[in-house]
Amino acid sequence: MRVMSGKTVTATLLLLSFLLLGVLYCYQNYRVSVSFELNDSRQTDSVCVCVCDVLPLSEEFHLEAEHLRYQQPSILIGRTDVVTVTPWLAPVVWDGTFDPVLLDGLYRPRNISVAVTVFAVGKYIRFLEAFLLTAEQHFFVGFNVHVYIFTDRPNEVPRVHMAPGRQVTVRSVPSSRRWQEISARRMELIQTLIEELRNHKDYIFCLDVDSRFHGRWGTESLGGLVGVIHPGYYRDQRTKFPYERRPESRAYLAPEDGDFYYCGGAFGGRLQEVHLMAKTCRQDFEADARGGIEAAWQEESHLNRYMWIHKPTKVLSPEYLWQDFKSREPEIRLVRFSGVAKNYAEIRPNT
Ligand code: UDP
Ligand code: MN
Repeated sequence: MRVMSGKTVTATLLLLSFLLLGVLYCYQNYRVSVSFELNDSRQTDSVCVCVCDVLPLSEEFHLEAEHLRYQQPSILIGRTDVVTVTPWLAPVVWDGTFDPVLLDGLYRPRNISVAVTVFAVGKYIRFLEAFLLTAEQHFFVGFNVHVYIFTDRPNEVPRVHMAPGRQVTVRSVPSSRRWQEISARRMELIQTLIEELRNHKDYIFCLDVDSRFHGRWGTESLGGLVGVIHPGYYRDQRTKFPYERRPESRAYLAPEDGDFYYCGGAFGGRLQEVHLMAKTCRQDFEADARGGIEAAWQEESHLNRYMWIHKPTKVLSPEYLWQDFKSREPEIRLVRFSGVAKNYAEIRPNT
């Protein structure tokens, strides 16, 4: 074997060094271009990406608390009468588990906007005024709120004075002879509304109109996918939950499935998450219809199946949808939103 001369060794080393430098240079350029691309594509989403760091900051968790004054938190003193976290570690929101001053202070600089959908078809228009008036008093007070009202009676929508930054949009929908259909079509209309809103709103809540606000419902309720625990079943075994129990339905849940029984009358979260849920529930509902089956509680059944598979990132306690006819339980310190008692036979197009 020929031994390399000193000159050859030096030349080889130099060549290798140039090669290494070249590779490093290309890699650096690649990183920069990737981060620019990220920056561009996410600009509308206002995710902060800096050139030297390709890891984007999540909007959900990037909350800054500078100059905020609030009560000292404790990990020893707090609610002991209720469970405040799910087994998958999502918070369960009860009165006394959060600091409203801190939370509002964290979200205010972000200038978030919240969309609300509410359906008032047929005689349910009569609930709209109290819903809107009480929302002005309790729902995200001081934040941007846009209420989308879906109704077949646009001329009967009451005029309610809204605070600055808050507004109402009325959308016409056809009437229906079956309440089940009105209730079920909500998912479709929510899906298409979110597709229109795209990046113009941050969060959405979809609420029953036959209800009123009685207490604060605000930033503590924000999350990726937000479910509300139904007030009627939270003491029951899961086998007793009124889930859809026929395996032929796409909303089916087996007796050993399910975490909580969630409300169809209140849910929400980030636009993207709610969009996926509404789309899935709608598709499953329609596939069921083609197969000649309607889930026991229409979209509520599909929502419960969805939330069993896709765990909500925040769970709201029944404070967030109580029922006027129900007597108050000791763990419910504050009723924030509650369904009014109604005469089904009188109000629904069919019973
Ligand atoms: N809804 C409506 N018109 C109807 C039936 C239902 O607008 O004739 C809408 C309304 O927003 C209502 C929701 O669908 O709050 C769910 O129906 P409902 O409140 O009757 O169900 P419940 O809460 O009694 O289970
Ligand atoms: Mn209702």
